[in-house]
Amino acid sequence: MARIDTLATVGEFGFLDRLLPRLAGRRDVLVGPGDDCAVVRCGGRPVLITTDALIEDVHFKRDWLTPRQLGYRSLAVNLSDIAAMGGHPTFGVISVAASGSTPAAELFGVHAGIEAAARAAGMAIVGGNVSRAECLFLSITVLGEVRRRAVTRGGARVGDELFVTGTLGDGALGVRQLQCGERRGAAVQRYRRPRPRLKMGQLLAEHGIAAAMIDISDGLLQDLGHLTKASGVGAEIEVDALPRSPALRRLPQLEALELALRGGDDYELLCAVPRRRVAALERLRRQFDCPITRIGRCVPERLGIELLGAGREVHLRSEGGGWDHFVNRES
Ligand SMILES: [Mg+2]
Repeated sequence: MARIDTLATVGEFGFLDRLLPRLAGRRDVLVGPGDDCAVVRCGGRPVLITTDALIEDVHFKRDWLTPRQLGYRSLAVNLSDIAAMGGHPTFGVISVAASGSTPAAELFGVHAGIEAAARAAGMAIVGGNVSRAECLFLSITVLGEVRRRAVTRGGARVGDELFVTGTLGDGALGVRQLQCGERRGAAVQRYRRPRPRLKMGQLLAEHGIAAAMIDISDGLLQDLGHLTKASGVGAEIEVDALPRSPALRRLPQLEALELALRGGDDYELLCAVPRRRVAALERLRRQFDCPITRIGRCVPERLGIELLGAGREVHLRSEGGGWDHFVNRES
């Protein structure tokens, strides 16, 4: 019997690898699929475009978030992709689908959350679409502009330093706590109300500091893998340098490390900074609205991704890919 490929067998990335070459290119497409946003030329200017969906029971449980929090979060995760290009969000449109028995007040609540996030980011929602579905489904598309040029995932070079904003692992810790029935605490709040790092992305882009950038939505290792692949480099990560919140520091060390390396839902920025621009980054620190921490550097591609531990034996669960081995330099 012929084997039928399903999404489950080819995987998200396998599917995209086959689909993307079929898309027609055009001269006014400056950055095509495969980055945080597409960049197209409109009226002579580059425009960013990104879209993201939030689906009940896939991305969230209804009792994890109030409708307002759900709305806020659904726009915030799109804004994070604009931030990763160093962009300024301008306009957005929304598709919402829900069952006929959904209280109208719930959808007004979702809308209020979206509006709050849009106001905070200085952008406007200009349209959308409503339809019927079995579960609650939200899809948002956001446009943005860049003042200088868009920062892609592909600009990192060997020797560049790697930095991350904020702290890592809190979003995933929040999800775990919600799954355990917890409804309070900093990590839960972090999941419910991600802070897209728009100002950081804009500063890093407009001062020519970030050579490559990506937002961390699927865990540091996975998103670092996207950046290194697009740039044709490898990376060394110093695990002791990974910035961790007080909530994460209270966990057993290995557990915290797993969350910081593989946890999703952080929406922090990871960027590669050429060594000659590190001084410029330090000079800008006063203007930053969150911490930014050096976590490693870019190395030749053939070295893959290495995790450096400071003289401690640490074993990490290895999941495919083969690049996430742990190197203990001291032993
Ligand atoms: Mg992204």
